[in-house]
Amino acid sequence: TTDISAVSEKTLNSILEKNRTYSAQGKVADYIPELAKMEAGAVALSVVEKNGKIFNVGDVHKKFTMQSISKIIALMIAVSEKGEANVFDKMGYFGTDRPFNSYINLETAGKPLNPMMNAGAILTTSLISGDGEKPFLKVLEMVRYMTKNSAIDYNKSVYESEKSTGHRNRGMFYLMKNNGLISGNEDQLDNYFKQCSIELTAEDLAKIGYFFANQCVRFDGDSTYKNAEMAKLIESQMLIAGMYEFSGEYARTVGLPSKSGVGGGITVSVPGKMGIGVFSPALDTHGNSLAGYHMILDLVKQYGLSIF
Ligand code: GLU
Repeated sequence: TTDISAVSEKTLNSILEKNRTYSAQGKVADYIPELAKMEAGAVALSVVEKNGKIFNVGDVHKKFTMQSISKIIALMIAVSEKGEANVFDKMGYFGTDRPFNSYINLETAGKPLNPMMNAGAILTTSLISGDGEKPFLKVLEMVRYMTKNSAIDYNKSVYESEKSTGHRNRGMFYLMKNNGLISGNEDQLDNYFKQCSIELTAEDLAKIGYFFANQCVRFDGDSTYKNAEMAKLIESQMLIAGMYEFSGEYARTVGLPSKSGVGGGITVSVPGKMGIGVFSPALDTHGNSLAGYHMILDLVKQYGLSIF
């Protein structure tokens, strides 16, 4: 391993080039029709070091939708508004052996397993206060804050595509309404679809990873939201369920709190140290970016980043 302070563009480039071929082995998500249009071969890697220095290699200007990665932002907002006990009264802290869209726990236990899978995430977003679009706008503003990128917005075509085909998510929404966990109308589900459609780059993801790795302090040192307990909560959920049913094996091989999205992004927090963002839309069978995973594996080996 090389010392973490020795991160260089050259090393990152060689990690990216070594793993580029994985982008031809995975499969771009197509259950949301608009996502199927993504260019399978795109690959990007970004690192934000402890001191805020940014390294970018590959298709760093390619934008993609954050999808499930938005769940960690929504969780932070819901917990800061309602308190952790009130949020987790309605869902569990459980890890998972189930895919992202499983709602088996709604049937067996009457509430979602955790806030990282769709059911718990839809519920989490519904707990953010405000009418209509307001809860979504809070998530969007927080993403803009963490990345210091006010140009970030959501992709309306992806949103419309998910809204018109997301019947399974709609089903979970109404099951939870039936169970008394959700009290609002379908605007709340639309807010979930909109947050999933927020469009950003690998660099933005690295900055989000950095934020949670560093007690909710932004990459430029801004400490408006500094909160060590919040960071611990979010990182622990990322660790146990951020990669869905692959989370256990991922903890063994990578050993870092991470959150993936079906848009092909993964955000990684190296606690107390750095943030990593990867992008490559070809996914493995669990819905995680294949080239992204392999780049993270190599980075972890190169710089000895596992928390274990
Ligand atoms: N918007 C996606 C869905 O709800 C998010 C899933 C994911 O990224 O894993 O189906």
